[in-house]
Amino acid sequence: MSEAKRVALVTGASRGIGRAIALRMAREGVATAVNYRGDAQGAAGVVEAVRQSGGEAEAFQADVADPRAAEALVATVHERFGRLDLLVNNAGITRDGLVPRLSHADWTAVLDTNLASVFYCCKAALRPMVRQRFGRIVNVASVAGLIGNAGQANYSAAKAGMIGFTKSLAKEWASRGITANAVAPGFIETDLLAAMTESQRAKVAEAIPLQRVGAPDDVADAVWFLTQAPYVTGHVLVVDGGLAIQ
Ligand code: NAP
Repeated sequence: MSEAKRVALVTGASRGIGRAIALRMAREGVATAVNYRGDAQGAAGVVEAVRQSGGEAEAFQADVADPRAAEALVATVHERFGRLDLLVNNAGITRDGLVPRLSHADWTAVLDTNLASVFYCCKAALRPMVRQRFGRIVNVASVAGLIGNAGQANYSAAKAGMIGFTKSLAKEWASRGITANAVAPGFIETDLLAAMTESQRAKVAEAIPLQRVGAPDDVADAVWFLTQAPYVTGHVLVVDGGLAIQ
């Protein structure tokens, strides 16, 4: 690995948006750590795709909702590659339901996976980034964190929390060369939308000014931009085809 080569950790990169982000990083010449929780086969497929195109990637299993596992993940990636430049907090889940039907477990699972994990990973990644005086953190939020969504109060709360966390992080660490930004995707074609029927999809597409759901690569483009923008920090880049235009 050349000295100038950047190193990225993408959480939840075994499929969907995280997979597209990891492939984009690797295509741009970044050595990429592909985190997954359960889908070892998916993560191995991402690593294989990167290697076949001449890039460098490795898979790392960890449940980022577990503080010790998240800390160990960051430490292992840093040890393996010798540095850590880009952190993309992408791992996320949904447990949807109207508020009276949400269980305590639905609430804590979503808050732990989608919000607390971001704190754990950033806390651990700041150590090497501060030493390097360089870091790019991008958190994958959602338009639900900006405008809310019926049936997703837990998810929206986690994503809104992620946005407040990102802005605070940006203010805390700007003087050390570390930027922190978020992307807020709208409807993106991944397993997370697999439960939608064709008619639900058609209705959604109709509500989107650009008339289609997004592709994982649309989000990867935005994430890549934020990792390459030294004068942008504390920003939330909405990637939703115009869905949340106010
Ligand atoms: P997805 O296809 O369901 O993939 C989720 C990824 O997160 C998987 O790689 C999964 O790994 C990983 N993951 C889940 N829990 C984890 C944990 N505790 N530790 C480590 N990895 C974990 O989801 P997606 O649609 O690509 O969504 C990715 C991100 O974008 C999420 O944060 C989501 O909230 C956000 N987002 C998505 C949409 C959309 O329309 N799809 C819209 C707005 C925002 P395993 O499979 O190995 O468990």
